[in-house]
Amino acid sequence: MKTEFSLAQLADPDIAEADKILRACVHCGFCTATCPTYVLLGDELDSPRGRIYLIKEMLEKDQAPTGEVVKHIDRCLSCLACMTTCPSGVNYMHLVDQARVRIEQRYRRPLTERLLRQVLAFVLPDPRRFRISMWLARLARPLGVLLPTPRPQATPGLIQRIKAMLALAPNRLPPAGPAAGSVFAALGKKRGRVALLQGCAQQVLAPRINQAAISLLTRHGIEVVLVRDEQCCGALTHHLGNDQDALARARANVAAWGKEMAGEGLDAILVTTSGCGTVIKDYGYLLREDRASAVDAAKVSALAKDITEYVAGLELAPAARADDIVVAYHSACSLQHGQKITGLPKELLSKNGFVVKDVPESHLCCGSAGTYNILQPELAGRLRDRKVANIASVKPDMIAAGNIGCMVQIASGTSVPVVHTIELLDWATGGARPEMNAQV
Ligand code: SF4
Ligand code: SF4
Repeated sequence: MKTEFSLAQLADPDIAEADKILRACVHCGFCTATCPTYVLLGDELDSPRGRIYLIKEMLEKDQAPTGEVVKHIDRCLSCLACMTTCPSGVNYMHLVDQARVRIEQRYRRPLTERLLRQVLAFVLPDPRRFRISMWLARLARPLGVLLPTPRPQATPGLIQRIKAMLALAPNRLPPAGPAAGSVFAALGKKRGRVALLQGCAQQVLAPRINQAAISLLTRHGIEVVLVRDEQCCGALTHHLGNDQDALARARANVAAWGKEMAGEGLDAILVTTSGCGTVIKDYGYLLREDRASAVDAAKVSALAKDITEYVAGLELAPAARADDIVVAYHSACSLQHGQKITGLPKELLSKNGFVVKDVPESHLCCGSAGTYNILQPELAGRLRDRKVANIASVKPDMIAAGNIGCMVQIASGTSVPVVHTIELLDWATGGARPEMNAQV
């Protein structure tokens, strides 16, 4: 794609990067077929190619984004299916991230939307605040039925969004998991030492996921550290376009893990929430212009691994059970498109005694996408229903996924138990049976 940035514009490293990305696009349109919003809405401007044109125009003219541009960028899930499909290697992720930052800086959203986004950015990355908000949402849920039911619309209003938030709140919250700073010793001969990302929403909604990871890792000789001073990875505010907050969190994490690396050392930084893993693996890029953190950020990104990547390198204990449980594997977008991890979790599950079924249309997002199911509830609901119907078609006993956002989203539309891949692997190799009646 031909671009027309001035030399002065190209002196800005972000614009230079955008220029490189835009020039790689040959407008072939292959990406439209796998874009969930194009599949649902059939509008070119809700396709990757359409959004790329909108972003190009906005950046080239150095204008404040228009309401029309914001509408179509907001509808993008950042699922990255387009990057998997693109034959030209267009880095849509870095382009749309830049567009979101520009929107945040130069577009004035309606007051209610600004407030909602501020509340989400304040609450979600902080486990204490998130826990309190979940209790409040549970108490407020009966009042939700008193709210009028707005006509479903692709550009949702505040009431639709509040209803979506209340619907996602769980009926009960499990007790908190182990505290930051805890170290779990390897059982038997020590073979490695890793940090395990504690996460923010996940540690409130389902601490059992990291407990299963700790159980499996320590049983296989790996010492696990929950690093003190670690924060939310920044993914939530990054996708809201609030780069200042996201980069501050990235720097804080690089410093906290750097201290641990320089101390007793780390073989890997493990992540059980693939949405976070995709962003941590990108810290090197996000902090590339930051002289103080760039080198360490690149080291952190190189050490970051999805839990399944690391577990695949361990010699797992032989499968303890084989009762032909049928598992529908939901491939989270951040894992399959963001990190290009596709077959590995399924192979691990199969090798460990589960009958793994692929879900039809597995490339399509479930509609969770960070805060998307709150900010775009109508589209998110349609994607969830489509995903749940596809999952039901393989008649599973359980659904496995590697991302808490997807787990919550899918669980809100089905009675089939939804568990994390690592819970099944832990169970299969001698750990506890996952809580099958758990809501998430
Ligand atoms: S598939 Fe890639 S090159 Fe083709 S239009 Fe989409 S982004 Fe551009
Ligand atoms: S990230 Fe997903 S929703 Fe956004 S343009 Fe690409 S395929 Fe479409």
